[in-house]
This record gives sequence, C-alpha cells and structure tokens, in this order.
Amino acid sequence: ETLFSKIIRREIPATIVYEDDEVLGFKDIAPQAPVHVLFIPKNEIIPTLDDLQPSQAHLIGKLALAAAEYARREGFAQDGYRIVMNCREDAGQTVFHIHMHLLAGAQLGHFGTPGR
Ligand code: AMP
Repeated sequence: ETLFSKIIRREIPATIVYEDDEVLGFKDIAPQAPVHVLFIPKNEIIPTLDDLQPSQAHLIGKLALAAAEYARREGFAQDGYRIVMNCREDAGQTVFHIHMHLLAGAQLGHFGTPGR
C-alpha cells in the first residue's frame, strides 16, 4: 500500500478533481506544468505498469478516458495535453500505485532524452 491508498480513503488530504466508480483524479502536489493531475485506479493496487495483468488492461483505458474527460471539462482539450506513465527507477517512478499523469496548460517541452 502507498500514500495513494490513503488519498483514496480520504485519510490524507488531496485536491480531488475527478472521481468515478473506478478512477480517482487529484492534483499533483509538486506540479510540473500549470495543469498536473494524477489519475489512479481506486479498487486495485497495481505497483507498476510491468505488474499489469491482461484482466486489468481496461483500467489503463479508464485512466485515459478520465484524463480526456477532465481536459474537456476544464476547457483545454483543444489546446492539447500529455499523459505519462512512469515505470520504475529509470523513469523516476516514486509512488508504486499505478498512475497516469496529465500535464497541460503550456507548450510542453520535448522529452525522452537522458536526464542523468
Ligand atoms: P511518479 O514519479 O510517476 O511515481 O509520480 C508520483 C507523483 O506523485 C509525483 O509527481 C509526486 O509529486 C506526486 N505526489 C506525491 N505525493 C503526493 C500527494 N500527497 N498528493 C499529490 N501528489 C503527490
């Protein structure tokens, strides 16, 4: 279990901006863009993308649909946005409860080059 389970149970505070039966969305505490929201599965703890089972594959679609709905609702879907999932150390994953980052609100720099 990670701190994201505590956010789901409302045991630690978060700015929750999206919720449905399977997905919770809340603002990242250390935003890397003007809009930075994390979307997580509420009912299953999957540490990394590498742990995802075929029976759980629909959850990734649910996270993406939640992010897209949020972008439309907040009015920046047409301007654009980025979704990111970090898997393990080389991607800088720090919380081992699978999550999708939604980044938006500015022209985002390119990525993929080694940072260290
Ligand atoms: P990752 O690096 O992909 O594992 O992303 C984890 C994200 O969780 C980071 O962007 C953190 O800033 C964010 N984070 C950590 N603790 C909290 C928290 N209590 N509330 C909201 N976001 C958090």
